Amino acid sequence: MADTPAQAELTDGFHLVVQALKLNGIDTIYGVAGIPITDLARLAQAEGIRYLGFRHEQSAGNAAAISGYLKQWPGVCLTVSAPGFLNGLVALANATTNGFPMIQISGSSDRAIIDLQQGDYEELDQMNAAKPFAKAAFRINRPEDIGIGVARAIRAAVSGRPGGVYLDLTAASLAATIDATAAQASLIKVVDAAPVRVPSHESVGRALGLLANAQRPLVILGKGAAYAQADDAIRAFLEETGIPYLPMSMAKGLLPDDHAQSAAAARSFVLGQADVVMLVGARLNWLLGHGKAPQWSADAKLIQIDIEPTEFDSNRAIAAPVAGDIASAMAAFRAALPSTPVHTPKAWTEAIGERRKHNEEKMATNLLASPDPMTFQSGLRAVRDVLANHPDVYLVNEGANTLDFARNIIDMKLPRRRLDAGTWGVMGIGMGYAIGAAVTSGQPVVAVEGDSAFGFSGMEIETICRYRLPIIIVVFNNGGIYHGDDVNRSGGADPGPTVLMGSARYDRLIEAFGARGYHVTRPEELTAALSSAMDAKAPALINCVIDPHAGTESGHLKNLNPKSALAATK
Ligand code: ADP
Ligand code: MG
Repeated sequence: MADTPAQAELTDGFHLVVQALKLNGIDTIYGVAGIPITDLARLAQAEGIRYLGFRHEQSAGNAAAISGYLKQWPGVCLTVSAPGFLNGLVALANATTNGFPMIQISGSSDRAIIDLQQGDYEELDQMNAAKPFAKAAFRINRPEDIGIGVARAIRAAVSGRPGGVYLDLTAASLAATIDATAAQASLIKVVDAAPVRVPSHESVGRALGLLANAQRPLVILGKGAAYAQADDAIRAFLEETGIPYLPMSMAKGLLPDDHAQSAAAARSFVLGQADVVMLVGARLNWLLGHGKAPQWSADAKLIQIDIEPTEFDSNRAIAAPVAGDIASAMAAFRAALPSTPVHTPKAWTEAIGERRKHNEEKMATNLLASPDPMTFQSGLRAVRDVLANHPDVYLVNEGANTLDFARNIIDMKLPRRRLDAGTWGVMGIGMGYAIGAAVTSGQPVVAVEGDSAFGFSGMEIETICRYRLPIIIVVFNNGGIYHGDDVNRSGGADPGPTVLMGSARYDRLIEAFGARGYHVTRPEELTAALSSAMDAKAPALINCVIDPHAGTESGHLKNLNPKSALAATK
C-alpha cells in the first residue's frame, strides 16, 4: 500500500483507547494479554502507562480494585474475550460489592456472529453477562464512541457509591481506523467525576439532636469512611464529642487502633448497650449482625451517613439518615456542634474502659503463651511485633482463622493500610490486592494468608518476582481449610474434604522465581524471618508451620455454616 498523506492523518481504536485513558489520569493497567487486546497492552506501555501482566485475570482485577480503593480513582483491568473476561468477573463483582471503583476493559469477538450464535472464537455476549455483577456495563461499537465510553465508565465507577464497571471493546472498533482530527475531538476529559454531595442542614440537625441526648452513643466507622479520605475531620469530630467508636475491619487505622476512644476490645458490650449508634460509611449487613438482636439493642436509635440513600432502612429503621458524602457530612456535623453540643457521659466511657481492660488482659495472656507447635495466636503475635515498627506497611489479610485472629491481634496505626476479604469474605484477593497496593503506594506489603486462601492466587508470586515488588507473604500453614486434621469418614485412603498438604513447602515455590523463601516453626524464627525480609525490601515468602489442630471450622462464622445432623465435625 502506498503511503499517501491521507493515511498519516488516520488513527485507530487502539490508540484512541490509550489516549482516552491517559487523558483521564489512568497511569496503570493490570491485565493478562491475549486476543484481541495484546496490542492495546503494548501500545499502552509504549505510551507511558505502566502495564502489569498477571497470571490470572481475577488477580489483575483485584489489583485494579484495591488501587481504586486507595486512590479514589478507577483501577483498570484488561482482559481477553470470553474465558479471560469471565475470570475477571469475580473481581469486578467483588469490587462492586465492596464499593471499590474499577473498570474492567475486555476485548470481545464479532458481534454479528455472537448474536446469531454461529460459534465465533471465544464467543460470548460479554456486556450482558457482566451486567448483574457490575455497577454499570457499556459496549463500544464504533471508534468514534471511545471517548464517551471511557468517560461514562469513569463516572459510573467513582460517582455516588463507587463500584465495578464493565467496558466492552469490540475487536472491530479497536482495529477500525478513523480520521485523527475527528478522533481527537471525540475524547472527553471528565470534569468533577465524583461530585460532592452535601447533606441537608435538616438531616444533620436531626442526627446531632439524637447524639446530644444520648446516654450511650457509639460511632461505627466502615470502609466507606476509610475510602472517603476524610481522616482528619472524622478524628476531630470523635475527639470533640468524646464518642467511643468501633472500626470495621478495613476502617482500622482511620484512628490509630490504640486510641483511647476505640471500643474494639469491648465490641459486643458496646453493640449490645449503645442507645444511639451513628454509622459512618458502614452497612448493616451480616458483618454487623444486620443491626438486630442478639448483638444489638432493639431500642437503639440509628443515624447513618451514606452517599447511597437507598441503603437506609435496609435492615432496620434509620431514625436519622444523612445522605451525603462523608467529607461534607463530617464538616457539616462539626460546623453544627457549637449550637448543638454533644458530650459523652462519663459513666459510659468508664464502663467501656473497664470492659476493654478486662478483654485486653485476657487476650494478652493468650498471646504470650508459646505452645509447640505454633498456633495462630503465637505466630500472629510475632507478626504484630515486627509490624509495630513499620506502620507504613500495607497489610493484606485473608483466610478463615488467619483472618479472624489477625484482625483482632494486629493493630493498625494509619488509615487504609488494612486490605482484607471484605464484604463477601472472599478468598483469592491476596496476591492481587498485595500487588495493587505495592504498585499504587510504592510501600512494602505484608500478606498474611491462610494456606488455603494463598492457593487461590498463589501463582502471582511469579508476577511479584517479575516486577520485583516489595511484597512479603506469610502463609499460616495448618494443612487445611480451617484446620488440617479432618478425616475421610468413609475410612478410604483419600484425604478429608478440608485437608491440604501440611508438609507443603510454600517457601520453595518463591525460590523457583529467584526470591527468598523461609521455613519457620517457632515464633522466634518467624520474627527473625519477617524482620530480615522487611530489611531486604524484596519479594519473600515465609512458610509458617502451625498446629494442624489449630483453627475452628468456618473461623468465627460457625453460625453461617449449616451442618448435617449425621456427620460429626470438629
Ligand atoms: P464495612 O464493611 O466496612 O462496614 P461497607 O462496605 O459495608 O463498610 O459500607 C460502606 C458504605 O460506605 C457503603 O454503604 C457506601 O455507600 C458508603 N460510602 C462509600 N464511600 C462513601 C463516601 N465518600 N461518602 C459517604 N458514603 C460512602
Ligand atoms: Mg489453613
